[in-house]
Amino acid sequence: MFQDGYREQGLRKQLAKKLKEKGISDTKVLDAIASVPRHVFLDKAFLEQAYQDKAFPIGEGQTISQPYTVAFQTQLLEVGKDTKVLEIGTGSGYQACVLSHLKVKLYTIEYNKALYNKTSNFLRSAGLTKINFFFGDGSLGLPSFAPFDRIIVTAGAPSIPEKLIHQLVIGGKLVIPVGDDKNQMMLRITRISENEFQREEFGAFKFVPLLGKDGW
Ligand code: SAM
Repeated sequence: MFQDGYREQGLRKQLAKKLKEKGISDTKVLDAIASVPRHVFLDKAFLEQAYQDKAFPIGEGQTISQPYTVAFQTQLLEVGKDTKVLEIGTGSGYQACVLSHLKVKLYTIEYNKALYNKTSNFLRSAGLTKINFFFGDGSLGLPSFAPFDRIIVTAGAPSIPEKLIHQLVIGGKLVIPVGDDKNQMMLRITRISENEFQREEFGAFKFVPLLGKDGW
């Protein structure tokens, strides 16, 4: 398991309080933020920064998302125990740990081989053996394990990838930031029936680009 202490726990509680003030209202999501250590994903020297509401570089030109963004996307997903979730963009694995804390059945895919190796080894060795890690182009989804109850994309897409919405169950939801390289609109797409989808918009965010065939 992760190295953790009172100081880290205190900083996490303060972070969860800050996210509540910023509008995160789902108590299970706030509890996950207050419970999942974020400092283990950063170098030891950055303990204070780990619990600030900021994105942070994790190598390979990628970032660990801002805690508010992780909480916001998780809240939009509306998950419960055993919800089958596909995360696209494993990155550091922090979002994956937040989802695991909520007891979902998690599949997560990463396009960058070095990050995939680093994160999957790290989380497996920390005992998170129930997470299913994949290396590959998540802009195409994960067809061999579809359909999913929920899909979360943690990188900015140029448009809604067709293949993703067709890997949702009826009633399933996709949470995805879509836009240009400067900012993206957070969208939630709900599959109403075989060929009907409902779209909701939740404000502007800024992500690193979703690469791959149906990405940039
Ligand atoms: N969820 C991550 C976390 O908790 O640290 C943050 C992810 S970071 C903002 C975006 C990630 O998406 C990067 O690790 C990047 O390599 C990955 N990515 C970009 N395009 C991808 C694709 N087509 N398939 C899978 N992962 C992709």
